[in-house]
Amino acid sequence: MFLTLHGATGAFVGQFTANPVLAFVFGFLSHFPLDVFPHGDRAFALRAKRSVREAHRFMLLITADLVIGAVVLGAAFLFQRFDQPTAAFWGMIGGLLPDAIVAIPEYAMFVRKSKRVWFRWFYRLHDYNHNRVITSFDCSLRTGMVAQGILLVLLWKLW
Ligand SMILES: [Zn+2]
Repeated sequence: MFLTLHGATGAFVGQFTANPVLAFVFGFLSHFPLDVFPHGDRAFALRAKRSVREAHRFMLLITADLVIGAVVLGAAFLFQRFDQPTAAFWGMIGGLLPDAIVAIPEYAMFVRKSKRVWFRWFYRLHDYNHNRVITSFDCSLRTGMVAQGILLVLLWKLW
């Protein structure tokens, strides 16, 4: 799932509490059910692990995702969409953290081809959760993008 959606959902669930620590935990936990839904990036991610060219295209998609996420969430904070901006902020960080942790073993395994892999257990847990449904039922990347776009608009309204 796109980082934009993980950050946006984390910010949303973070506001269920005024406590920043709880907001962070809510955001962190929101990451996993979101990843279970079919969202169309599995095939692309698999290709990126096998080909350098596809890996570069995948990095481009992640960069675009980060830029869009920064613009949307930056605008939401700037235009004061959140009743609890501090909780929303920590929820957002919690929502993004699992993919940031996963990037560490992914870099070690697929870029550096290193034998020393930190957070391998977390990578496996995240991978299992991410793929258990979409291995047998996934949508196209385009459908996933449209669905996530709709979800993002909905979250903007709910903030
Ligand atoms: Zn994830």
